[in-house]
Amino acid sequence: MAKVVGIDLGTTFSAVAAIGPDGRPFVIPNDIGELLTPSVVDLGADPPLVGREAKQRQELGDPGVYAFFKRDMGDPNALYLAGQRQYTPVDLSALVLAYLKRCAERYLGEAVRDAVVTVPAYFNNMQRQATIDAGRQAGLNVLRIISEPTAAALAYGIRPTAETSTVLVYDLGGGTFDISLVEIGLEALRVIATAGDHYLGGKDWDDRILRYLSSRFEQQFGVELIGDDFNELLVKAEQVKIALSTRPAVRVTVHGSGRSGTYEITREQFEGLTRDLLARTEQLVEQVLDDAGMTWEAMAGVLLVGGSTRMPMVRDYVTRMAGRPPMAGVDPDQAVALGAAIQAAMDLEERQGAALTLLLAGRKATVDVISNSLGMIAESADRSCYINSIIIHKNQPIPCQQTRPYRLRVGRAGKGRLEVYMTQGEVTDPQGCAYLGKYVFSGFPRLASDHAVIDVTYAYDRNGVVQVSAVERSTGQPLTLVVEPLPSDVPARFLRPPEDVVAPEHLTLYMAFDLSGSMLGRPLREAKKAAHGFLSQIDLASASIGLIEFSEKVRVSVQASQNAAEISKGIEHMSIGRTGWSNFVHPFDTIYSLLAEVDGNRAALVLADGVWMRQGQAIKAAQRCHAAGITIIAVGFGEADREFLRAVSSSDALSFFTDLNTLTHTFSTIAQEITERGGLIDPESMRLRRDRLNLID
Ligand code: AMP
Repeated sequence: MAKVVGIDLGTTFSAVAAIGPDGRPFVIPNDIGELLTPSVVDLGADPPLVGREAKQRQELGDPGVYAFFKRDMGDPNALYLAGQRQYTPVDLSALVLAYLKRCAERYLGEAVRDAVVTVPAYFNNMQRQATIDAGRQAGLNVLRIISEPTAAALAYGIRPTAETSTVLVYDLGGGTFDISLVEIGLEALRVIATAGDHYLGGKDWDDRILRYLSSRFEQQFGVELIGDDFNELLVKAEQVKIALSTRPAVRVTVHGSGRSGTYEITREQFEGLTRDLLARTEQLVEQVLDDAGMTWEAMAGVLLVGGSTRMPMVRDYVTRMAGRPPMAGVDPDQAVALGAAIQAAMDLEERQGAALTLLLAGRKATVDVISNSLGMIAESADRSCYINSIIIHKNQPIPCQQTRPYRLRVGRAGKGRLEVYMTQGEVTDPQGCAYLGKYVFSGFPRLASDHAVIDVTYAYDRNGVVQVSAVERSTGQPLTLVVEPLPSDVPARFLRPPEDVVAPEHLTLYMAFDLSGSMLGRPLREAKKAAHGFLSQIDLASASIGLIEFSEKVRVSVQASQNAAEISKGIEHMSIGRTGWSNFVHPFDTIYSLLAEVDGNRAALVLADGVWMRQGQAIKAAQRCHAAGITIIAVGFGEADREFLRAVSSSDALSFFTDLNTLTHTFSTIAQEITERGGLIDPESMRLRRDRLNLID
């Protein structure tokens, strides 16, 4: 009999576990004997490398090494480049899963096919489906997908009991924070509420140490840490943090530009430097308790998951709030994988109808709930606007299904189509929702009337994957479904009243200039000219323009403004940064934070002349902008890497490769196009313009 395993496919680390001969779950070591495998893939190697070695290469700054791809699961636009090939987040996850499968097979000495894989409780349909696809691609039969907090509760020995109670799962990993309430019932364990911050984790704590040490070094020697020195300190910062979990103070030596300084950092100082980070987790805990109408006192226990919960400040906080220490006995790094192994064994046992282990006796299947409401875009009752019409409310146990009728004009010939935009969100405002897919139904039956009532059904299976179907009510005929990619103007198209002409929307656009050393001289002069040219062609009645400069740091030199004089002054003052030939930072996180919350059309025009450090991070951050509806236009010249420019821009049509002589013309043309479209950036129309520019590309 082939062995079943449980896999924690984590953002920073992954692990695989199985049930041992004693009936207890254990984590299987990987081929270098470690229990945790970094979720890092080096696509530059052939075949690609996974885990520790890939992470080491990343620390050395090798291109083609990718981490944090779990954040992009289910996003059809997320792509990673290696040479001529493009990889999806599913491909990268499949490489990690295949590696863990191989390690398990080697360790157990038998074939492994069946697995339970965990996902965050908030993962939506696309993200769960992507995880199943990755499992399949890795040669695994995914028995089911379960939520990480449910798995953790299983690992802590929690099983369904007659008396209902609730535990709080506090999961602080390397790059993400999740908080969940798990209800223990007679039949099942289920997640009843979740919240989190997917950009908060141990890495942020490392960053604070890094900043503290580098500023002490700078103060002492007056030089900044760059390149290898910087990377070395990045690795050290994490070691210092881990040491401070068990020691009251740590001494560190920092090297840079041939000099070295030794500094002490105490746990108290560290806790002071990161107090706001812990406070962010505290706020989210309060929010989740509030949402569920619960209090700390009502919790039967607190479970800690994720390596970062080893920091004493986390334990102290939990103990203070709960009035007792968190539950013990399970390694927080391993809890999720161990729980997945328990679930896998339970599923196998159920299938084979045999009692597999003593440990699992007396349990029932676990059940998950959906953590987000799912709906579709519909016209409001008076047809004056679009609204998000919720079909399945959050926190229902899965599997479940729900049907809603929609009245539709179809015409007697049976022509016409019904477009369903699947949303995720709790509000009726289409702008407050995430968009999960476009489902187009056709093949309407011939009817006596022009209108038809269509029953649209959303059905969740036990993996949390949703199927959409539609039936014409009077005939009972199912409609034909085609899943189409989401158009790029979603949700903008739902912000206008249906079938109505509206005034152009306001555009907020930042020009971001790479001002590393290689821009010195003529390139800088030409860049300024191009920026002035752009400004002169933009209608500032319907657009605000801002300026970002980046080299060793990102600096917002002009906040988005409609004042031409102010912007112009900013352009004149642009100057070369202090780094050497190439830059060390990318502007996309800044662009995101400046524009994510802004209404109307949002865009950035990025100029690059060379190869950037940390291209992978830049691409990921740019993709976050794309996902938030921020349009990125990339213009490159000189040594600029074309593939990279294409990857950071929102569409192929929005990447321009030019030379110094035509830079101003390129910028002006982009501005003309934007103005003619009333502040909208339409990739197709931009492509026509670009092709007419006769650029070198
Ligand atoms: P995870 O993604 O759950 O494996 O968590 C990884 C994170 O936990 C990384 O940021 C690690 O630096 C952090 N971590 C691991 N061990 C410790 C420790 N003893 N003290 C503080 N942080 C730790």
